[in-house]
Amino acid sequence: MDIKEIRELDKKFIINTYGERPLALVRGEGVRVWDAEGKEYLDLFSGIGVNLLGYGHPKVVAAIREQAEKLIHVSNLYYTEPQVKLARLLSENSFGGKCFFSNSGAEANEAAIKLARKYAKREKTEDRGQNERHEIITAKGSFHGRTLATLSATGQTKYQKGFEPLPVGFRYVPFNDIEAIKQAVNDKSCAIMLEPIQGEGGDHIASGEYLTALRKLSDEHGLLLIFDEVQCGLGRTGKLFAYQHSGVKPDIMTLAKPLGGGLPLGAMLAGEEVAAAFQPGNHASTFGGNPVACAAGVAVMETLLEENLMQKAEETGNYLLQKLRELQQKYSFIVDVRGRGLMSGMELSFAGKDIARKCLERGLLINCTAETFIRFLPPLIITRKDIDEGMAILD
Ligand code: PLP
Repeated sequence: MDIKEIRELDKKFIINTYGERPLALVRGEGVRVWDAEGKEYLDLFSGIGVNLLGYGHPKVVAAIREQAEKLIHVSNLYYTEPQVKLARLLSENSFGGKCFFSNSGAEANEAAIKLARKYAKREKTEDRGQNERHEIITAKGSFHGRTLATLSATGQTKYQKGFEPLPVGFRYVPFNDIEAIKQAVNDKSCAIMLEPIQGEGGDHIASGEYLTALRKLSDEHGLLLIFDEVQCGLGRTGKLFAYQHSGVKPDIMTLAKPLGGGLPLGAMLAGEEVAAAFQPGNHASTFGGNPVACAAGVAVMETLLEENLMQKAEETGNYLLQKLRELQQKYSFIVDVRGRGLMSGMELSFAGKDIARKCLERGLLINCTAETFIRFLPPLIITRKDIDEGMAILD
């Protein structure tokens, strides 16, 4: 099918939640993708950060093929080897603890929200309903997903409008403001949830001091600290997990995007004592932790660790930041350049949508978020040469 036919069918049969899309993509390899007309694109956005190892990474493809030939799906009423292998890799390379597998970032966050509420009820208290500890403090400008609870957790009214009434139990504070969060804690609070680097909000980095203060505050008030690493986790920022830059360990961490090597997979990790608040029957998913997705996840994790791609993300990430700063010297409308590792971008003094569109016309895929922030989430296998090519188009 050519793009015209695909677009017509899309108009007729797909609910219009994504608007008209500029391309139909058919094939990918490494940092590049090709559209239905055979045109090549350099992809510095890698499917919103999903294609961490690039398109068609041989180890991911082999793992998927091998597992698909053996067993594509079984219910979570039975064990499978890929699931426990991946859980072990995640646990032993982070803060320990146990995993619950989901299909997406929103579902991983839903699991975290449910677990935090359940954990808060562990001490047998008289049921005080809405007055019981259940409230989760989240940050303004955050993004935690599109299910009703995660939408409610997301500190951006633009996504919430029209879907009221939203689930109760979320309180929003300005990001990186320790005094504000101290004020927000009350006797209903049960957790603090935030992205160590706000992705969708425009790559705002939580300072080490802020995270250290949040850990202290959580410990003092018996709150759980939840880090949403759905976008910034798994090597992207130069460490396997973004929290490792500060050394501040969360009680719960959520992952998704690149975890399944492009297949739908999310995970919630929780320290052993917290994880124990979930008992059989408390939470479940038909597809979560599917053996093919988990086999791909094992390949992603092993490749990251064996090839130390975190270091590569740091090196090429610094190079990309340097190139962006050079552009900032040249153009006064670039008001800020920020990011960490291969999660970076530039703030413009005007809306950036047209820049992303013009880059696409010239064979470069990038993204504009929060209206004015041009962001990059390239695969970790990107080279300096690819970055030079992308920057020349952007310039
Ligand atoms: N959390 C963060 C930090 C995200 O960036 C996203 C998606 O962009 C989500 C959660 C939701 O993930 P998903 O779209 O897989 O539900």
